[in-house]
Amino acid sequence: MLFDIQNLIEDLHDGIYFVDLERKIFRWNKAAETITGYPESRMLGRRCSDNLLMHVDGDGNQLCVDMCPLAHTMKDGKTRESEVYLHHRDGHRVPVWVRTTPLRNEKGEIVGGAELFSDLSQKAATALRLRELEQLALLDSLTQLANRRYLESEIKSRLSESIRCGLRFGVLFIDVDHFKGFNDTHGHEAGDQALQTVARTLTSTARSYDLYGRWGGEEFVGVIRNVDRQGLLVIGERCRKLVEHSQVELGSSRQQVTISIGASVAEPGDDIHALIKRADQLMYQSKAAGRNRISIG
Ligand code: GH3
Ligand code: MG
Ligand code: MG
Repeated sequence: MLFDIQNLIEDLHDGIYFVDLERKIFRWNKAAETITGYPESRMLGRRCSDNLLMHVDGDGNQLCVDMCPLAHTMKDGKTRESEVYLHHRDGHRVPVWVRTTPLRNEKGEIVGGAELFSDLSQKAATALRLRELEQLALLDSLTQLANRRYLESEIKSRLSESIRCGLRFGVLFIDVDHFKGFNDTHGHEAGDQALQTVARTLTSTARSYDLYGRWGGEEFVGVIRNVDRQGLLVIGERCRKLVEHSQVELGSSRQQVTISIGASVAEPGDDIHALIKRADQLMYQSKAAGRNRISIG
C-alpha cells in the first residue's frame, strides 16, 4: 500500500512534533500551530526545552527541565501518556493530552522522539456557546466570558437544582492581586490584556459543565458543579497555579499576575447573596493571608 506519510502528518487533528537527540525540533505540523499559536518557522531548530512551550502539570510543576516526558522516553525507549498544560503563544495555558514515543533508526537505536498532543479545551463547542450568549447579551465583551447577569441566573438555577435533587455545587470567587498596581505600571490596555489572559486560562481548564464568568472589574466567579469541599479546593487550587504560570504578552515583555480565591460549597438554606457573600469574605481572607492563595469555608 502506498501512502504519503508527510501528508498524513499535516492532516492530523492532533499536534505532533519530532525532535533529535539534542531535543531540537525538526518537524512541527499544522495542528501543532493551531493548538499552540506557534508557526513552524518559529519552532524549527528550537529545543523543546527552550522557554516556549513550558509544559506544566495540573499541580503547576514545570516539566521541561527535569521531568520532560519526551526526554525520559528518549532515554528508556518507553512510550508515555500524560495530561499536561502547554503554554499558548497568547500567554494562556492549554490542556492537552500528550503521548511521547521514541524514534529509532533501522538498527533499533533511538535517534530522537515524537510528541503527539490533542487539545482538550473543547474550543469548537465553546465557540458555538459564545455566539449564543452574545446574542442574548449574556457575554462580557472584553473577556468573552459569561457576564454577571448570566452568572447570577446560573447560580440561581444551581441553587434550585440542589434543593430539588440534592446535587452539590460550589463557587470560586476570584480577584486579581494588586491589579491597580499592574494598571499603574503597565497601562490600562495592558491591564485589559491581563484580564483576557486570566479569562482564557480559566475557561481552558474548565470542565464542560462548569461556568466561569466575569463578576465585574478584576473579579471572576466560577460555578463548579457536582463537587464536595475537597473537589472544589482541588479545582480552585489548579486555577490559581495555572494563572500564576500564565503570561501576559505585552509586546516587549511578559508579565505575570496572580489571583486570590474564596471557595464555598452551597449549603442548605443558601440564597445567592449568602453564598456569594461567603465566598467573597473567604477571598478577602486569602488577600489578608498574603494573596495568591485559596481559602475554603
Ligand atoms: P488587591 O490585591 O487587594 O485586590 O489589590 P487591587 O489593586 O487588585 O485592588 P483594587 O480593588 O484597589 O483595584 C482594582 C483595580 O482594577 C482598579 C481598577 O482600575 C482595575 N480595573 C477594574 N476593571 C478593569 C478593567 O476592565 N480593565 C482594567 N485595565 N483595569 C480594571
Ligand atoms: Mg477587586
Ligand atoms: Mg484585586
